Amino acid sequence: MMAPHPKRILIVEDNKIDLRLLRDVLVVHGYETLQTDDGLDAINLALANRPDLILMDIRLPHLSGLEVTRRLRDDDRSKEIPIIAVTALAMEWHEREALNSGCDAYLSKPITILRLLDAIEPFLFCPLVLYRAARPSSPLPIHRRAG
Ligand code: MN
Repeated sequence: MMAPHPKRILIVEDNKIDLRLLRDVLVVHGYETLQTDDGLDAINLALANRPDLILMDIRLPHLSGLEVTRRLRDDDRSKEIPIIAVTALAMEWHEREALNSGCDAYLSKPITILRLLDAIEPFLFCPLVLYRAARPSSPLPIHRRAG
């Protein structure tokens, strides 16, 4: 069997500890990563490198993650890249706002390894169209908080 091409994930995160955690977990699990703490830089990296997935912090200096997401969705070159919002903003309306801005899913902090892998794997190994088609009636359950 041929070794699969490693999937490439862009991490947009301005918290150094969170960035380190995300990157370490992904690298250990065989993913390639790119990272930045800046929204404009994220757009440039996404267009230049066409990652398979973007993990998008919402609260960033300068451009918010939601604005970055909207800009990526408005560009034909990046509109199909799955984007998962990763944020400590965990109210239900934050989640709705992220989905309305074009994020495909929402993962609330604190991140655990299992929740992170559960969140990203469907987008890397299943056709995105299935998830987008299902979204209006059945939001993804992966990011729901217990209680
Ligand atoms: Mn942040």
